[in-house]
Order: sequence, then structure tokens, then C-alpha cells
Amino acid sequence: MPEIPIIRPPNEWNSLLVRVTRGCKWNRCRFCGIYPHLGEPGFSIRSVAEIKRDIDLLKLQHPNAETAFLGDADPLQPGVDAFVEIARYLRNAFPIKRLTCYARVSTLWKLRKDAIQILARAGLNRVHIGLESGDAEILRFHRKGQTPEMVREIAAWLKDAGIEISFYVLLGLGGRDHWQRHIQEAARLINETEPEFVRIRRLWPYESNSPFSGPESPLLHEIRNGNFNPQTPEGTVLELRLLIKQLHELSTFVTCDHGNNYVQVSGRINEDKQTMLTKIDAFLALPESDREAHYLAVGSRI
Ligand code: SF4
Repeated sequence: MPEIPIIRPPNEWNSLLVRVTRGCKWNRCRFCGIYPHLGEPGFSIRSVAEIKRDIDLLKLQHPNAETAFLGDADPLQPGVDAFVEIARYLRNAFPIKRLTCYARVSTLWKLRKDAIQILARAGLNRVHIGLESGDAEILRFHRKGQTPEMVREIAAWLKDAGIEISFYVLLGLGGRDHWQRHIQEAARLINETEPEFVRIRRLWPYESNSPFSGPESPLLHEIRNGNFNPQTPEGTVLELRLLIKQLHELSTFVTCDHGNNYVQVSGRINEDKQTMLTKIDAFLALPESDREAHYLAVGSRI
């Protein structure tokens, strides 16, 4: 059996899943801890030979696959040469039309512009990047290891190379105290960089007794110590509204493609912004008891 990444973007459900690294090398974001929680506490790089063997096995299962996704959290860590070899092997074996991966901002930033051009020439079409917030202080508190300036720079390099950007924004990351700043700065960065996609997630500080039984979210420690004041469910809906309202006439496709989102809206901002806002406002106009029942019904999951 080929090893497969533990986590993948929802839209890659039908893609070849190729595991290049195991876990997350950084593993420090306070809001995350997800790989340890799912049973992968360490980080390791798989050899190119191992990965090629997996690709051979995948070929037997899905000979005509046209899309592929590389994981786990930071599959560009092994470096450009390894990526080029894996991408070439994949493209020789399959009629690949779209090759994507997760990528940390700091990893892309260390690679620099020229290496990103090489990734593009090797066939990398899109990167899934945790933007999380656009606010430097919030990113620092959560130990994300990236700054808005780094995001601006790598976004320009990616655009120049023709690699699509899929950003993830995490509602609730500023807590109740800084939510407006969190969203305003996220909107500012999105307006400045105009990514192809923005995917909306909602912060959930999970406990150790979630279905996976791994360690709890590191953020719970900060909540207990009074260092983080969690956002309310309704607050995250207001965050979503503010985010969409603040985005300019972008061609960016925004989607709430995770079950934790209390209101699910999707659309291209320059075409569907008003429809998305109308849907959120219709939800907010429901009686309070209905909204509260809805928050309970949606619940939280990984
Ligand atoms: S958010 Fe990403 S970079 Fe941060 S710890 Fe989680 S997987 Fe690693």
C-alpha cells in the first residue's frame, strides 16, 4: 500500500495523494497541533526512491489520474531537486493536468524567487498556503512563523511563476478581542495579492478526547491562562461577513469548504460578493434561538 498524506484539501479528494514528508517540521502554531493529534508527532522526509515506489503502486490503482497532491504539511522541505525528480516521475507516469501541494510561507520564502520558477517549470500548478491572518501581531502570538511582508513577497514570486495561490483564512484567530483587526488585515493582504482561491476555516481548540484521542490543541493552555479570549460562534459569522465586505473587485474565488463553517458561502468576489453577503445577512436575521440551535447542530470537527 502506498503511504498517503494524513490531511488534504477537500477539493483534492479525487487526486493522487503522494506522501513526500511525514508530519509538520514547524509544528509550533498554537492554534494547530493537528499532526501530533492525528498520531504523527514527528517530522521526517521520505526518500525519493520510496516515493517513486508509491507512485508505481498508485499507477496500478488509478492509471489515468489527472490531478495529484503532495503532502504532508511541508512537502517542499526536501528541496527543489527532490521536487523536480518526483514531479517528473509523476508526469511521466500519469496524464497530470494539475499538480498541487501544501506549502509554508517560510519555506517558499527561503527557497526564493528563482527556485519557485524551477518548481513551476517542473509542473507545480498550485500551492495551498495557510495565510490564517494578515495581522503581524496575531501571527506572532500564534507562532505561525511568517509575516505579512513575507506573504506579499512570496505571492508576487508565485504569480510571476504562474503558480496559483490557495490561501486559508482562519476565522476566530484574533479571538473576541482582536477580531476586527484580524479580519481587516487578512482582507488587506488578500486585496493586495489577489490569490486565485481563499478557503475559509473556523478555529476550533479541540480537546484530547476528540475522536482521534491525540494531544489537545496547544491553544487551550492559553485560553485557560487567560491569554486568549475565544470568539463566539456568532462572532465568526460576523468575521466572515466583514471579510467578504472588505474584499475589492477581485477575481478570487472564496469558499467555505469545511463543515465547521456556520454559514457556507462560495463565489467569485467580483461576481458573487453581494449574493454571499445577502446569504449571511439572511442567516443573521433569523431569530436568536434558531441561530443558537444552528451553531449547536453544526458543532466542530477536524
Ligand atoms: S498550521 Fe501548518 S505549519 Fe503550523 S503547525 Fe499546523 S501544519 Fe504546521
